[in-house]
Amino acid sequence: MSNASAPHASVEALRSLLKDRRRIAIVTHYNPDGDAMGSSLGLAHALKVEGVAVQVVLPNGPPGNLQWMPGYPETLNLDRDGDKALNAIRDCDLLFCLDFNRTDQVGKLEQAMLAVKPKVLIDHHQDPQAFTEVVFSNTQAPATSEMIHDILVALGQGDRIGTEAATCLYAGIVTDTGSFRFRSTSPHTMRVAAALMERNVLVDVVHTAIMDDNSLDRLRLLGFTLNERLEVMPELGAAYIALGQADLDRFHFNPGDTEGFVNYGLSIRGIRIAALFIERDGQVKISLRSKSTLPVNRFAQEHFDGGGHINAAGGRSSEGLKAAVAKFRKELPLCSSPCPWVVGTTVAFLQCSGPCPMPKR
Ligand code: 5GP
Ligand code: MN
Repeated sequence: MSNASAPHASVEALRSLLKDRRRIAIVTHYNPDGDAMGSSLGLAHALKVEGVAVQVVLPNGPPGNLQWMPGYPETLNLDRDGDKALNAIRDCDLLFCLDFNRTDQVGKLEQAMLAVKPKVLIDHHQDPQAFTEVVFSNTQAPATSEMIHDILVALGQGDRIGTEAATCLYAGIVTDTGSFRFRSTSPHTMRVAAALMERNVLVDVVHTAIMDDNSLDRLRLLGFTLNERLEVMPELGAAYIALGQADLDRFHFNPGDTEGFVNYGLSIRGIRIAALFIERDGQVKISLRSKSTLPVNRFAQEHFDGGGHINAAGGRSSEGLKAAVAKFRKELPLCSSPCPWVVGTTVAFLQCSGPCPMPKR
């Protein structure tokens, strides 16, 4: 199996850290998604042996469609459990940081996290901050959950992945690969999925639990959004959705309800960049998606204090919904000469080859 996720030096460093540890904690990012939950719970199941306590700690709770995961009831979250969650981090003798790579992504757990040593980062996002003693960073991996599988195998502990761990890791991979359809899905991903299936994962049950768990409010919000809030600019190959606080209130918004909405914009014929703006509690959260080689992570970084992957990124704005939308419309990346993405930039994510992916005016 490929070991791009598990370089020898990091594996050996982790092997020695795991010796004599009694209280392990695992922390993941704010608003945990399927990969955050799947990698954390999957690793927790695999590390739990006689005499070792493993506690998953979340900054806040996951959406309802992830709460079926084996081990979720034993997790702590800061929003609900307060000091108990903080103390689980403060009292651990080894802390794993999964599926994020910047310290501000764990909300109010940040200070407690930073105070703990040693820490191990396992993550697949770009540009990791150096805040842990051991780092596993593979930006080619489609999901942290795939990395967890590979690291356990590299440690010689693949047999610790039982049905519960495999189910969590499989769910993480399904989520972050968009059910094995994003370009990040590799032959290796399929082999890992196959290996997990051999641990008796009920793949139909996992898909149903994650995908077919809509509340009626969420479906109605989706209908309203597509009817009333989807703006398309065909001449620019762009589409966006802006949802205000009042829209969310009208449909009794719950965290996770707008998950996937941005993809409807991108699914329109001829659209190559799509955005979703959500106004909540005075902040605007922006999600960006693109087709082909249009680097929305750069766009998010330059204009919305964000980042992410080439085709899926996000950011934020505190200037209000209207201003954020206006900025998006104004700064939309367009094909021009000289190329605004390759010339004069320090980070050349986009190698200009083949047809230009930028929308033309
Ligand atoms: P989503 O649109 O699903 O919230 O986020 C998609 C991806 O964009 C995430 O996996 C993450 O890599 C990145 N992302 C989202 N929001 C932010 C942000 O505020 N800052 C940074 N650096 N990345 C973000
Ligand atoms: Mn992930």
